[in-house]
Amino acid sequence: CGIIGYTGPRSAAPILVEGLRRLEYRGYDSAGVALIDPGRTPPMVVTRCEGKIAALAARLEAEPVSGTTGVGHTRWATHGRPCEQNAHPQRAGRVCVVHNGIIENHSRQRAELESRGRVFRSETDTEVVAHLIDEIYDAGPDDLIAAVREAISRLEGAYAICVVHDAHPEQIVAARHASPLLIGLGGEHGEHGLSETFVASDVAAILEHTRTVVDLDDGDIALIDPSGILALLDDDGQPVERGRRRIEWSP
Ligand code: GLU
Repeated sequence: CGIIGYTGPRSAAPILVEGLRRLEYRGYDSAGVALIDPGRTPPMVVTRCEGKIAALAARLEAEPVSGTTGVGHTRWATHGRPCEQNAHPQRAGRVCVVHNGIIENHSRQRAELESRGRVFRSETDTEVVAHLIDEIYDAGPDDLIAAVREAISRLEGAYAICVVHDAHPEQIVAARHASPLLIGLGGEHGEHGLSETFVASDVAAILEHTRTVVDLDDGDIALIDPSGILALLDDDGQPVERGRRRIEWSP
C-alpha cells in the first residue's frame, strides 16, 4: 500500500518510520522495514509487525538496527491474511522486496519456483517476486538491476516494488507498472544538503527531506544510491532521462 526507501549518510530507520507515518492515512494492516547494516551477517535485518506503525517503532526501539540504507512498507493485504509472516519486506535468500499492488500470475510462478526447490514462508504474491530476483541474480553476473528487470518481465499485474540486496549495501532498485513510484533527490536538491536519495509511492512520505522528485514512468526501473540515480531504464530496457519536478505545495 505504501512504500518508502532511503539511502544516504543518516540512520535509515527513523526516516523510514516517519515516512510510513505520513502514509498512514492510506490505510494498512501491517508494516515493516528492511535495513542494511554492513556490520552484520547477513547484513539485511527485517523488522515487521501486524498492526500499527507505533508497534513497529516500539520494536525498533527495543531492538535497534543501525544502517543507512533501507526500505519500508505499509501493507494492505490482497493475498494472504494480515500477520507478521505476510507483512513486507518479503525476503528470499539475499533479497528483500516491498510491493504495492497485485501479481496476477503469482500462483503459477510460485508453483514453478517450488518445483525448483524454493521454499515459501508467506502466503503473499509478493514473495514470488523476491524468490525470482534472488534466483535470477544468483544465476548471473552481480547485476541487481538486470536481475530485477528479468524477474519482472515474468510478472503480470500492477505493481510498484523496491528491492534491496545483501551484496549491494548502498543501493535500491525501484520499478513500477501501473502503480505510482517516484525518486526524491537529496544533495543540492534536498533540504539537508546531504548526499542522499529517496524513493516513495507518495511524495508526502519524503517531503520533509526533499522537494525535487523524478516521477518514474510506467515500466521504468531505477537503480539509486546516495549520489542519486545511477541507472534508469525504460520498458524496453533502454537508458532514459526523466525530468525533475519541484514540489511547491505543503502538506
Ligand atoms: N499484494 C501484496 C500483498 O498482499 C501487496 C498489498 C499492498 O499493496 O499493500 O501482500
